[in-house]
Amino acid sequence: MSRSGGAMLEDAAATGTAKRWLMPAMAASLAAAIFIVDTLSPLDMAIAVLYVVVVLLSAGFVERRGLLLVGFACICLTLLSFIIIHGQDYNLASTMRGVVGAAAITVTTLLSLRNQKATRSLREQADLLDLTHDAIFVRDDADTITYWNHGAEKLYGWSRAEALGRKAARLLQTVFPSATAEIRVELHRTGRWEGELVHTRKNGARLVVMSRWSLQHDERGRPMATMETNSDITEHKRAENALHQAQAELAHVTRITTMGELTASIAHEINQPLAAVVTYGEACLRWLGRDVPDIGEVQASVQQIIRNGRRASDVVARLRSLARRSDPEHVPVDVNEVVDDILLLLERELSSHRVALHLSLGAGLPRVLGDRVQLQQVAINLALNAIQAMDAVPEGQRRLEIRTVVDHAEAGETVLMDVKDSGPGVDPQTMPMLFDAFYSTKTEGMGMGLSISRSIIEAHGGRISAALNDEGGMCFRVTLPVNEETVS
Ligand code: ADP
Repeated sequence: MSRSGGAMLEDAAATGTAKRWLMPAMAASLAAAIFIVDTLSPLDMAIAVLYVVVVLLSAGFVERRGLLLVGFACICLTLLSFIIIHGQDYNLASTMRGVVGAAAITVTTLLSLRNQKATRSLREQADLLDLTHDAIFVRDDADTITYWNHGAEKLYGWSRAEALGRKAARLLQTVFPSATAEIRVELHRTGRWEGELVHTRKNGARLVVMSRWSLQHDERGRPMATMETNSDITEHKRAENALHQAQAELAHVTRITTMGELTASIAHEINQPLAAVVTYGEACLRWLGRDVPDIGEVQASVQQIIRNGRRASDVVARLRSLARRSDPEHVPVDVNEVVDDILLLLERELSSHRVALHLSLGAGLPRVLGDRVQLQQVAINLALNAIQAMDAVPEGQRRLEIRTVVDHAEAGETVLMDVKDSGPGVDPQTMPMLFDAFYSTKTEGMGMGLSISRSIIEAHGGRISAALNDEGGMCFRVTLPVNEETVS
């Protein structure tokens, strides 16, 4: 401990000792003075009423029994003065003065006892708040800290004496998740607020806390103070972020693997427009080489060259975004556009496996909040699984249906994406294992596709489920919540 810290503690102890002796000494002197004046003064007044001050002073340093004794002693002193002054010779007026004095002392003693009891129970309740590990503090309307529990001392590093009277947001360098005005409005409207805050400890370390606020009102119902209960979730947040990071990396790796599966299709999707560019280029030269160049045909060929060039660059752009490794985004996404995106990559896969595609994309679908590339990954996984599973059924019966629709469920609006095939389906007993990591029935399968799809959809706040169709084959259903902010 530093010298100044030690000196401060010594000072505080000395002040405490002085206070311990000062108050009883003052009370005793006052009682003696009242007794002398009451006994010796010629004034015909109820001087004994002043003993209530002695009782009130004593209430600050004695407990219940001590206070009863003080009250009793004051009444005895009143009686003694009365006997000394009046002896056998007393009249009604002097007796009444004595009675008034004794009554005042009795009432004050009883009221002080009641007050002590109430204070004791309040203190006990406040002590209870010290038992919890959560940091609890109370701040008034001007954000000044008026209560600071033991948990807050431990979590933030400031002692109660240091924190009391300071402005909470300034002391803790609070970073709010939204505008403070908005939070205030919610607090005053509902009486409570809950959210994550970033605080800074006395030693400068930053921490994330889960904060619960409740507004306290005075007896007239006016907001008076806010009680803030904070629990440290820094470690939890760190672990959660690490998990998200790991999931994103795994999703990326499996995306690259899926692209590996699609190499033949991708090569075809890029080759085809490039071949067309060459053909139209040659045609162009031919039309230009004529004695009278046919400008109309040249124009048509150049337009085809541009169209095919764009298509190739579209495919490359989509591949690049799939291969990109970036943190998941949270932006409004149109699920129909996600389906469009993947079809460009799957066209060749569908035709080489002789699968007929049936699209039923819901009109005016609300947007969902999420990461377009990750949702494409889920759609590709489901469609590829379906296409591959249908190898087991004769050509002509292979049908892939992708359907999107908005569902106005009671729990909130959702967008559904069904990927349905006419393949052999799965044994109902293996159904619970489908989404397990490394579960695969394919010789070269990794068994990560459905597991990654599930974690992607759950990270979007949605669900993914599998069911057998009545007419055979599987149906995978993705349900994504519609965020109110994304409804345009
Ligand atoms: P992988 O494709 O590498 O095997 P997945 O997690 O994507 O990994 O799929 C796990 C397993 O689920 C597959 O091996 C297959 O047995 C089964 N499966 C997935 N989709 C279908 C489907 N549409 N029809 C039948 N079985 C399916």
